[in-house]
Formats: sequence, structure tokens, C-alpha cells
Amino acid sequence: MTRYVYRFGGGANDGAAGDKTLLGGKGANLDGMASIGLPVPPGFTIATTMCARYYEEGEKFPEELFAEVANGIAHIETVTDKKFGDATPTGNGPLLVSVRSGARVSMPGMMDTVLNLGLNDQTVEALAATSGDERFAWDSYRRFIQMYSDVVLCLDHGAFEEALEIAKEDRGFHLDTEMTANDWKALVAKYHELVVEEWGKPFPQDVHDQLWGAVGAVFGSWQAERAKVYRRLNNIPGDWGTAVNVQAMVFGNMGDTSATGVAFTRDPATGENAYYGEFLINAQGEDVVAGIRTPQYLTKDARETAHAKPLSMEEAMPVVYGELAAVFDLLERHYRDMQDIEFTVERGKLWMLQTRTGKRTAKAALKIAVDMANEDLITQEEAVARVDPSALDQLLHPTLDPDAHRDVLTKGLPASPGAASGIAVFDSDVAEKRAEMGESVILVRVETSPEDIHGMHAAKGILTARGGMTSHAAVVARGMGRPCVSGAGALAIDAAAKVCRVAGREIREGDLITLDGSTGEVMAGSVPTVQPELAGDFGTLMVWADKVRRMRVRANAETPHDCQVAREFGAEGVGLCRTEHMFFDDKRITWVRQMILAENEAGRRAALDKLLPEQRGDFVSIFEVMTGLPVTIRLLDPPLHEFLPHAEEDFASVAEAAGVGIETLKRRANELHEFNPMLGHRGCRLGVTYPEIYEMQARAIFEAALEVGSKTGAAPFPEIMIPLVATKRELELMKEVVDRTAQAVFKEQNASVEYHVGTMIELPRAALKAGEIAEVGEFFSFGTNDLTQTTLGVSRDDASRFLTTYVDKGIYARDPFVSLDIEGVGELVQIAAERGRKTRPNIKLGICGEHGGDPASITFCESVGLDYVSASPYRVPIARLAAAQAALKARG
Ligand code: PEP
Ligand code: MG
Repeated sequence: MTRYVYRFGGGANDGAAGDKTLLGGKGANLDGMASIGLPVPPGFTIATTMCARYYEEGEKFPEELFAEVANGIAHIETVTDKKFGDATPTGNGPLLVSVRSGARVSMPGMMDTVLNLGLNDQTVEALAATSGDERFAWDSYRRFIQMYSDVVLCLDHGAFEEALEIAKEDRGFHLDTEMTANDWKALVAKYHELVVEEWGKPFPQDVHDQLWGAVGAVFGSWQAERAKVYRRLNNIPGDWGTAVNVQAMVFGNMGDTSATGVAFTRDPATGENAYYGEFLINAQGEDVVAGIRTPQYLTKDARETAHAKPLSMEEAMPVVYGELAAVFDLLERHYRDMQDIEFTVERGKLWMLQTRTGKRTAKAALKIAVDMANEDLITQEEAVARVDPSALDQLLHPTLDPDAHRDVLTKGLPASPGAASGIAVFDSDVAEKRAEMGESVILVRVETSPEDIHGMHAAKGILTARGGMTSHAAVVARGMGRPCVSGAGALAIDAAAKVCRVAGREIREGDLITLDGSTGEVMAGSVPTVQPELAGDFGTLMVWADKVRRMRVRANAETPHDCQVAREFGAEGVGLCRTEHMFFDDKRITWVRQMILAENEAGRRAALDKLLPEQRGDFVSIFEVMTGLPVTIRLLDPPLHEFLPHAEEDFASVAEAAGVGIETLKRRANELHEFNPMLGHRGCRLGVTYPEIYEMQARAIFEAALEVGSKTGAAPFPEIMIPLVATKRELELMKEVVDRTAQAVFKEQNASVEYHVGTMIELPRAALKAGEIAEVGEFFSFGTNDLTQTTLGVSRDDASRFLTTYVDKGIYARDPFVSLDIEGVGELVQIAAERGRKTRPNIKLGICGEHGGDPASITFCESVGLDYVSASPYRVPIARLAAAQAALKARG
């Protein structure tokens, strides 16, 4: 029989410790901590496999689960010596449990939790009597009703919050901690009324009903809208499901010797090797995370650096702090990674409630990986494998210019590093809409909740008035790599009126502001930025990555500046120089238009003669920047109509500049009009019909190569690439043009350079006929943008309208223009590589579509043995690291 329930704590071990697939991350680590002897309240995990089963059965539990859960509860009862639902006023009191979700990977705040479950009108009295703390018992009960009504009964939580606020106001209190036992009792009565009003039935009194309700709610939350959005953003498959963890409650809210906190074994923002965290005396876990009370620091150092008054845990509870510090070290050694921990102190006794690999900024990920390798906790190769290549993006982007003027409005917590400027927006839906219109948006909220996930994703930066470093906004922003300033308490935000007041000034929706997520500063206006620092830990990790990678990494670049950036990021050549980008400046476009508008070859040649020196100049600069490295230059590719005006009002001026009549211009534009330009007169089809265009480009390349060769003594090695080839004959014809031009130039100058002529593989026919094409082509570069477009029959330019739906419905796991469709397009790449190699065993193979900078696609490229990947300059380091990881994976 399949087993669904696994026990932990109190010496029980059902043999699945560490199995995250089965137990979810939280369950696996609770089991793991218990098995190395750490103090974990006893409990059990209902496996993730039950989640799928629950949905299969029409959101019902299979019969066999009831007995298994009963055994689980019996286990907790035995270890704690308490009984679930026990109403006797003597003895150890009733057993209360927490019910929490826990998927394979953590999805912070996305799914449901219920605490203090097991309280009802009788057990609350028993808890009061046995704990000797009536206030605590009734406080726990009102928390439970509120949470259960929200999460399980799905009642309007605003009504409960309002009742709490009114109760406090009536007593003239500001804080929950001022409320007495009788105040809480009165509130519980009010809550009971609210439940009846909203739900039509009284609050469930049977503790077993309560438990099953909560378990169902946790499974239900797997399919909640916010969880689906989070999964989509983080590429988490929908069929993984969540586990449910049921665990004995321990209480951080039993007076001043009790506390609760969250901690990281190293600083998750900077990676510094120092304990980092927050705690609250006399509080439950949700109080820390919700950011309602401002938490205290964990260490004395941190408190002093922040000039904060309330004592740190190190000072206030030195003995328990010492125990906690020992646990931190043990956990880091056991899991060999930085841990994110939740703990509770109940009347002086430390309990561990959770440990997981801590989320961290890219900066911290780098530092921690490099430090741990240097501490011999992990190997250099493990360090390379640890850093998510995509996360490097955060480090490779500009930060605020330290010398620029900053009109600082206020300062909050530096919750997630990086800098961003944009317009202030106070609502997540508005943020999403305005971002879609192309505006840079800063989302400004009192605090964020999981409902804001889409707005946070759309925003360039996030600013909140409330919440600490571990608040929802901070954790999610760090995960997304968005700069975030949280807890900027001086902000008075009126979201309804779309305005925020600070330091006597007003920020309205649409006003520009700037955030510095590394200092916590919030500034008016936008502030200039500077390039990132690429030495230090980044440089070290890149050196380690370069040692293990097999594939070369090149850049897609067509200006000397981009080539320079690419070289600084470690590019080992240019994989794609798109020559058409050089044709768009004011002077040149006129000549390009004259060429297009010419009625005959002589007219075209006259215009091309004017372009030649300009094009040659471009290549000279690029060859100079890339000295010693290969440069692949692609001849003209786009449909010609892209160079002609489209708007009526532009015709007159364009006609005048090009020296033709407006009627001629309109007629030619009309003649060149295509219904499907992407499948039309473009790529080598231009070269076949107008060979003089490719001839001019080839001449510019060879003349430039000779010029740079004689100037520097190091002759460049141009690789001339023909786009959109479908047949061997096309390539043959184009190669003849290039070779003929080469011979002419070499003869004129009495000098020569070596070069290759190759092709892009970007049409399915080219992939299938690669064996034949390789008889002519000396290299292949996979143009996976066009290959995806033509294989899927999906237009690159129009796909966004429906691709999100396709991804949502699981038709493609990810946007195939972002991450290669390995099964389909990938198979064509594999076929072409095999057939090409069969004809020409040492043919050089690369990829230059956008996928060349996508880690998953790079892993695929390694598996088919490509020689290099080529990515945009900023993604070169990502590609270097991803290529290294792919090589490690391939080695196994
Ligand atoms: C491609 O098609 O993948 C490619 C690199 O060419 P372009 O994007 O310029 O069409
Ligand atoms: Mg292409």
C-alpha cells in the first residue's frame, strides 16, 4: 500500500529524511533536523503525492488517509504527552497543532498556514488552566478563529481585523499586547457572531473537523491564483503538489521568556559570514513575518551598527542565543549551505521550526559560494554549480552613480540591492498596466502581500512603508532580483488618493522617484547610474567557471562599444554581427534607400559605393576591438521594406533626401510591400537577387581586415555568414560572390587574409539538408530565433499575444523564444549538427539566437556538442557560468 504519512520528532523516523520530492522542502528538513538531534516539535508530513491524489479524487481524501493521520496524531500525543481536543483543566493541557504547506521548493507566503489548531470553547479553558496564563489562551484562540476563518472558511478577513481595531479603540489601546484576557474573551465572542453571520454556521468545535478542514485548505491553496502566478514566474511545474505538515505547537507568546524569530546563518543581502536575523519577545511567528511590530536584532553587532535601542537576542537571552548559534553552525555543516531558519523560544526552551536553504541576492550567492569554497566547506566546482546564472543579471546591471546628486526624501531598509528609477504607482494592477505600456514603474505600498505578486513583477523597484528585512516584500523582491526598500516608516501613503507624503513633500502617481535598494534611500526624480564592478568574487567565480567549461562563449554585437563591453565580460569572439544595424543612422539610411529605390543595378551600385567606406570603417573598429578573436559577420538579412518610410507624413522628406520623386517612392514602397515579410524577400534571397549588396559587404570586410592586419600585425579572421539559407545552391551562389570579391581585393592590395564562409541554420529545410549544405559551408551558426519561428509556425513578432496562454495551459513549458523548445526545435538542431559533422567532421558549430544566453538552452547546446554559444554582451557572464554548469552536468 502506498504510504502517505511520515512522522518526525521524538525519535520517530519513517525513513524519508531529506526526500524533498516526497515530503516537500519543509517536511524533509524538519525530518532532517530531528534526525541529527535538534529540538524539533514532533509532527508528521502528509506527502506531496497526496496532493495529486486529492485532486484526482475530486478534492476529497481517500479512505486510507484517515487511519494514517490518526496514527500521526497519536505519535504527537505520545511525544508531547498531551491529547488533541483534551478539555481537562489539569495535566499537560490540550495538544494544539500547526498545519502548514510545503512544496518541493519554497514558495514564500504563497500557500496557506493555520496555527493554534485544536482550540474550541472547551479546550481554551483547559489551556488557560494548565498554562496558568488565561490571557495567552484567549489570545491564541482569537488568533486561531481569525486565521481559520480566513484560510479555511474563506470569510472576509477585513471584518475580523476591523472588529479587532474597534475592540482596541474602545479600550483606548494601540497595541495588541495591551489587551487583557477579558478583552480577548470579548473579542472571541464577537468573532463567533461574525462567523455565524458570514458563514451561516457556528465556528467548528470538533478538533478533527478543524484538522481536516485545514489540510484541505492547504491542498486547495496549491491551485490558488497567486500560487499559480508564482509557479509560472519561477518555472515550478503544476503537478509537483504540496505536502502538509502537521506539528505540535510551541509558543513564543508565553511571556517575556518566550520569543520567536527568523534568522539566516549568513547575511542574505551581502553574503557576509555573520548571523543575521530578527526576533520578537512574546510573539508568534506570523508577527515577525507580517512586519506589524518592528522586530529586534539578533546580534549585538547588528544592533549597534543600526544604533537601535531594544536589546538584541544575544544580550537579552544570552543562554538561548548561545544554543541557537551552535545550531546555526551545525546546520551549515550538515546542509553545506547557508540556511534560513525559524525558531521559537517557549519559556526559555529553544525549538527549531524550520530550516531551508536561504534565498539570497546574487551578490550574496556569489560571496557565499566563493567563501564556502575558500573555507573548504564545498569544492570550487560546487561553488560554480551553486550560483544561478540568471541571477547574475542583478550584478551586471548598473547601480546609482555615487557622485550624482541625490534628492533624498527618506530612508528605509535596504531590503534588496540594485537601483531603479520610475514613476510612483500605488496599486499593483495599475503597476502592471503601466509597465505593459512601456513605463518604468516603482510600486509603492504600505506593505505587500502575495496578492501583489504581479505588480511586483511588473515593477522595476518596490517601496514599502512597513515591514522588516524578512517581510514579504523583501523576500519576494530579492527572489525576483528587484531592488526594494522596505519599512520606510516616514512615508504616509494614501493609496486611494494615489498620493504619498514624506518630509513635507508630495509624491503623486506618475511622479518620478528613485530607489537604492543597497542603502535604503528613496529619492525624488531619476538618478544616473554607473556600471557594475566585475572584479572580486565575481571575477573569482568566473575563473573557476572558465576552468570547467568546454564550450566557448561569444557575443552578439555590432558596435565597437558593444564589442568592448562584451570583451570586458569575457566574450571570446563575436558570434553574430548583424550588419543591418549599421545602416540606420541618418546619413546611411538615405543611401540605403537610394539603393533600394534604384531602378537598375547601376543605380544600386552607385548607392552602395557611398555605403562602402562607412561599412569598412565599422568593420575596422570592430576588428580592432576584437583583436585576436574570431568575428562572425552576417551579411544583410532584413526585408528591404524595413528601411522605407511607412507613415504618409514621412514620404515627402524621404523622397527629397533620396533624390527621387514622391510618386516613385510610393510606387517602389508599394512594389516592395509584402504580406509576410519575415518569410519574404530577406536573408540570402536579397543576395541572390541583388548580389552587388553582398559584394559590397564582402569587400568592406576584406578591405577592413587587410587594413587592421597591416596596422596591428595581427590579421583578423573574418567568418562571413550567409543568413536564411534553405538549400545548398543558395549558399554556393553566395559563396561564389564572397570568394570572387576576396580574390579581387587580395589582388588589388597584393595581400590576403584567411576567412571562412558559413551559414546560419535557421530554416527547417536547412537543418534537414545540413549534410549537403556542409559541403559548401565551413561553419554553421544556429539562428534559433528564426528556426523557432519557422519550426513552430509562430511569428516572432506577434506571438506574445497568445504565448502566455500557451504557457499557462502547459502547451509549452516556457516561452519558446526565450528558452529553446528542446523537443522540437532542439531535435532539428541535433539533426543538423550530426549531418553537418558527417560531411565535414570538424565543422565549427555555434548558436546565436537569443537562446544562446538562456541557461536551459545552453545545457542543451552542451549535450549536442556545439563549439560555442553567442549571447548579448550583458548575458556573456551568464552564458559562461551556464556553460560551466552544463559541462559539470554532462560529466555527471
Ligand atoms: C536568429 O534568427 O536566431 C538570428 C540570430 O537572427 P535574427 O534574430 O537577426 O533573425
Ligand atoms: Mg534570423
